[in-house]
Amino acid sequence: MSKIVILTGAGISAESGLGTFRDEGGLWAQHRIEDVATPEGFARDPDLVHEFYNARRAQSRAAQPNAAHFALAKLQKEHRGDIVLVTQNVDSLHEAAGAQNVCHMHGFLDGALCSSCDTRWPAPPVMSKTRQCPSCNAQTTRPDIVWFGEMPYHMETIYHHLSEADLFVAIGTSGNVYPAAGFVQEAALSGADTLELNLEASATISQFAQAEFGKASEIVPNWVETILR
Ligand code: NAD
Repeated sequence: MSKIVILTGAGISAESGLGTFRDEGGLWAQHRIEDVATPEGFARDPDLVHEFYNARRAQSRAAQPNAAHFALAKLQKEHRGDIVLVTQNVDSLHEAAGAQNVCHMHGFLDGALCSSCDTRWPAPPVMSKTRQCPSCNAQTTRPDIVWFGEMPYHMETIYHHLSEADLFVAIGTSGNVYPAAGFVQEAALSGADTLELNLEASATISQFAQAEFGKASEIVPNWVETILR
């Protein structure tokens, strides 16, 4: 199994205390997506959106990687073939566990972006609409997060990797958010084997050749051991 492309979603960080999209009572449940995760919401009320992401950034920086993040970092180090790690998550727990070159297709909380000149820089703990861009000085800074209606990052690179994959594995993702939900079909069309590791079946389960269900902290390390054996 030389080239493995892995897609992770909110489920891999759930046991680190970061709520998934649909968690009852979680941060996401208290806000409407249209208000906090769209360019239109940001244009309407930048204070609310900054407040939402400031809270998520604080939560994410306080969180620790779990056994699933560590297992994938180990796989990257010890597997003799190529491991490509693509995440929909905006936390940095893969990196905290030691993973390298993680492709954050939906951006990340630790980044700031100027919507006037596209300059990027490390996000301070608290962002606000009055913060100036360090390059053009405009007060148009935003979290470096891909919102609904925007084009995810690194798509060309990801599709290239999918076309070369021997195995595609989706971990802890509900299969509701496109284009990530279409990766399994893309990989299968190129001849890759496909595996879902999840707490419960995703919306795209029928497109996977194999699946295993359980907590990420248990099923991911087990799967990694079978690959490294
Ligand atoms: P989702 O919330 O739609 O689905 C979460 C998936 O994880 C579900 O399939 C659920 O069964 C599974 N899951 C829950 N607990 C699990 C566990 N302990 N072990 C294994 N699986 C578990 O998440 P999504 O598919 O990633 O899509 C939601 C969007 O929201 C993404 O775009 C993502 O950027 C964003 N998001 C990110 C974070 C984060 O960065 N940690 C958190 C919430 C939402």
